Amino acid sequence: MKLNRSLRLGAGLAALAIVATACGGNEERSVSSSAESGNLIVGIKYDQPGLGLRNPDGTFTGFDVEVAKYVAEQLGVSEDNIEFREAPSAQRETLIENGEVDYVVATYSITDARKERVSFAGPYFVAGQSLLVSSDNTDITGPDSLEGKRLCSVTGSTPAQNIADEFPNVQLQPFDTYSACVESLRNGAIDAVTTDDIILAGYAAQYPGELKVVGEPFTTENYGIGLALEDTEGRNQINDAIEEMVASGAWEQAFNDTVGDSGYPLPAEPTVDRY
Ligand code: GLU
Repeated sequence: MKLNRSLRLGAGLAALAIVATACGGNEERSVSSSAESGNLIVGIKYDQPGLGLRNPDGTFTGFDVEVAKYVAEQLGVSEDNIEFREAPSAQRETLIENGEVDYVVATYSITDARKERVSFAGPYFVAGQSLLVSSDNTDITGPDSLEGKRLCSVTGSTPAQNIADEFPNVQLQPFDTYSACVESLRNGAIDAVTTDDIILAGYAAQYPGELKVVGEPFTTENYGIGLALEDTEGRNQINDAIEEMVASGAWEQAFNDTVGDSGYPLPAEPTVDRY
């Protein structure tokens, strides 16, 4: 009787463990196995106009969203079968490592440090770090004019890291999202926001006459599509999809339909790096 009960308990615990594994985000994910099952989970930004934006009606728009959909379609998954998840800058590697997303298209720069935790297809776009200020600001003209100014950027982003490394005298206030930085800029709590020029152009277009992008871009940000470190097959498939998007003209069309509205000029076509 006693033995019987412990056997039953053991079996119960084993069943629980199976359920926990199935429900948790930790099972092995690969882009191709998810695509074969007919569904993909994609990490994007929710608050970056022109790039990745969740609209009040629950739809998603922006260049990154278009890239995410094009890649899914090439993998055989229609856009109705994509589940978008918010991927804030500081959480992107973790979301991928935990298998909570299949891939991330979220203004995500390819860097050697990040390549230790995730892999990247792309680049599918090349941007550069810049500055956003109030339209009436005249004394901030580039990164060398930031001393004594209050500068906002986002935790876990390459622009925040770059300021800490290259401009240590600048007062950097790290926020979780760029939209929070922009609100602080608008209410005067900070003097400038720094991140990639294409992101800042989207906010400047959202508040015309109130905000402006200043100076020349001072870094190179190669946007990649992040996926699991070991998923070489998925990386190759996504690289193929990016090349097809560029060659077919869909890349330029997507740019014109999204970021193009902000006045950001169409850049040179990207060349995928099959490292
Ligand atoms: N491209 C930069 C990065 O990956 C800045 C944009 C962002 O934080 O999403 O960190």
